[in-house]
Amino acid sequence: MDFVSISFFTFVLLMSNIHGPFGRMIMNTQFETDLESKGFIDEPIDPSLDIVAEIQRLKKEKNAVILAHYYQDAEIQDIADYIGDSLGLSQQAAKTDADVIVFAGVHFMAETAKILSPKKKVLLPDLKAGCSLSDSCPPHLFAKFKEQYPDHLVITYVNCTAELKALSDIVCTSSNAVQIVESLPKDQKIIFGPDRNLGDYVRKKTGRDLVLWNGACMVHEIFSQDKIADLRKQFPEAKFIAHPECEEHILATADYIGSTSGMLKYTIENPAQQFIVATESGILHQMQKASPNKLFIPAPPNNVCACNDCPHMKLNTLEKLYNCLYYGLPEVDLDPAVIERARLPIERMLEISERFGL
Ligand code: SF4
Repeated sequence: MDFVSISFFTFVLLMSNIHGPFGRMIMNTQFETDLESKGFIDEPIDPSLDIVAEIQRLKKEKNAVILAHYYQDAEIQDIADYIGDSLGLSQQAAKTDADVIVFAGVHFMAETAKILSPKKKVLLPDLKAGCSLSDSCPPHLFAKFKEQYPDHLVITYVNCTAELKALSDIVCTSSNAVQIVESLPKDQKIIFGPDRNLGDYVRKKTGRDLVLWNGACMVHEIFSQDKIADLRKQFPEAKFIAHPECEEHILATADYIGSTSGMLKYTIENPAQQFIVATESGILHQMQKASPNKLFIPAPPNNVCACNDCPHMKLNTLEKLYNCLYYGLPEVDLDPAVIERARLPIERMLEISERFGL
């Protein structure tokens, strides 16, 4: 929306100084329309506004914390109070004393924050920031799948809906999936979902026979083996590092496999000067900041793009984040019964992670 073409609704809103009942009614109607059709508050922002300074000011005023995933744009990562992968973000969401959590990530992450902090207001800059992996496992189909294995324990990767977590025994992330499986008795039968690539990786690492749900992430499934092989010829000294959501044939050639935080740590600690990185390209920002003299090359996908961006993660922008903090919308809310059932499997994950020092 163009700033100069202020809509009729915005005009009325400003005239009524937002406080009157008429103003509030108009505001609600406009916002409801925006949230339903666009997924975010599309109010104009004064182009002369120092948006970063305003976000910092609003954060203090509202006692809000911004949690950002490594796959967010660099400018969002740079204003976050905490940047991390799913495990780190869950740990932060569980212990924050802020009144408001602004989750710069995708929908399932904001849901996880709400489950862990149900009394807090959890905001997501764009409600349409979903996840193809989460979508690949509809809870009603998973419930039927689970019925076929009544003596199996269910471990689900955190990249799934709150309803799916509520059907699980333990949640995991790519940082702790191996340890969580290994923490269970050897004869314990296990269903693992929704990511078949991570499940297959965990199966190989632990030697356990997991029953896998056939889901996948659209970003990690499209790395090009040929283009990566070409890059390795071009940069023979480079280490090739990959996320376990990648397909088996990509992982088979990796020098290191790990979660985003594991990959970041590896690039800091390893003496190599060049790294080819097979995960969403947002993580390169932190890698470059931590090791400014090293070269980071995004592994290319099998399309015309040079690097691999998650279209869901990249829906969030600084402008949407500002509006979200300013108006306190969109808010992620959940059925209290779902919160109740989904909380225990996440808490089990946090407890096992703490035991392993993760
Ligand atoms: S990178 Fe993949 S798993 Fe992560 S949010 Fe995007 S689609 Fe989902």
